[in-house]
Amino acid sequence: MKFFYQERTLGFFNLYFKYCEDCVKKTALITGITGQDGAYLAQHLLGLGYEVYGAYRRSAGINTSNLDYLGVTDGIKMVSFELLELTNIIRTIEKIQPDEVYNLAAQSFVGASFDQPLFTAETNDLGVLRLLEAIRLVNKDIKFYQASTSEMFGKVQSIPQTEKTPFYPRSPYAVAKLAAHWYTTNYRESYDMFACSGILFNHESPIRGHEFVTRKITMAVARIQAGTQSILTLGNLQAKRDWGYAKEYVQLMHKMLQHETADDYVIATNETNTIERCVEVAFAAGGIEIEWQGEGVDQKGIDKKTGKALVEVSPEFFRPAEVELLIGSPQKAKDILGWEPKTTFKELIELMVAEDIKRL
Ligand code: NDP
Ligand code: GDP
Repeated sequence: MKFFYQERTLGFFNLYFKYCEDCVKKTALITGITGQDGAYLAQHLLGLGYEVYGAYRRSAGINTSNLDYLGVTDGIKMVSFELLELTNIIRTIEKIQPDEVYNLAAQSFVGASFDQPLFTAETNDLGVLRLLEAIRLVNKDIKFYQASTSEMFGKVQSIPQTEKTPFYPRSPYAVAKLAAHWYTTNYRESYDMFACSGILFNHESPIRGHEFVTRKITMAVARIQAGTQSILTLGNLQAKRDWGYAKEYVQLMHKMLQHETADDYVIATNETNTIERCVEVAFAAGGIEIEWQGEGVDQKGIDKKTGKALVEVSPEFFRPAEVELLIGSPQKAKDILGWEPKTTFKELIELMVAEDIKRL
């Protein structure tokens, strides 16, 4: 059992109280609470007995659909939060006085970062710097988790990618995330703050954003089966990704902040698959066997039974610079934190298709 001491002033006396770490209810602030990971992490922390504050970006209404899906909306204390606004961040940290801050908020879509590079940098780069500064000013003992990304490896310099692989970002999103990654390291080393980055490879779930390729595919399978969509249009089918299950990945975020020392960890499965393979597995889960014809932008996915084209390629979905191959080694997380991914790529895609079919 671990203990910690807290100083309290009673009249003229400064007293030190001894607390059992496991017996005191901890408070966590999760930014990006309306997103995929925010919802799963909130569910995980509530299950561990945490008081959870969910930071949402103010807009016409709060979108709690992901939280509703996981049945956790009522357990979370929602606070209005904007990564672009330093004063708002300082006030939020001052008011809540969290033990742990999980920064999951971001402009998270690589494709959009080519169209909105400045907004992406303001949010994903300077936003993180604002948050770190706010923590340093208010209470530098607050533990900090930063959502770093495998996109930082970009044009990969070694296979598989580990914590030691040099970075080579290939999009405004990745460049901004890399800056935030180094800020996190820098604040850890400069100010002795407990600041960690999880270098997460792609992770998916039934509440993954609709524009990401896996969810775009699994939703299309459900709609094509239901007769409400006729064809699925994609970009580069040959890119390879290391896809894991978001529900398992958020557990490691928490584990990282409980370890004795702050450090960075790759979170991945060490299995990689093409987008083409993802299409095959998803359609098979919907009872449709896909056969490929043609190449490049002329490639088509044909329903083997009916001969109908169900998948096509359009240059619209190609990126100015592509990340061709990602595959990560979670060995360090396994050795030090005892974490291992459980759900396989095939199980994950089948789970997503089943949920999308159920929802329709
Ligand atoms: P989502 O896109 O689902 O969620 C992003 C969240 O950030 C949303 O709640 C969004 O709010 C919020 N947000 C965006 N801009 C701001 C802002 N200016 N101020 C406050 N909040 C803001 O992402 P995921 O849950 O999938 O990912 C979580 C984090 O992990 C992100 O930082 C992402 O970049 C990173 N990551 C994700 C990977 C993945 O495969 N999922 C892989 C590697 C890293 P709103 O709902 O209003 O848009
Ligand atoms: P990313 O790895 O964070 O960019 O996650 P995405 O799910 O957005 O993209 C994964 C890969 O799928 C990238 O290599 C994309 O170029 C590729 N891809 C191919 N077609 C599409 C598409 O229609 N939408 C998206 N989002 N990605 C696509």
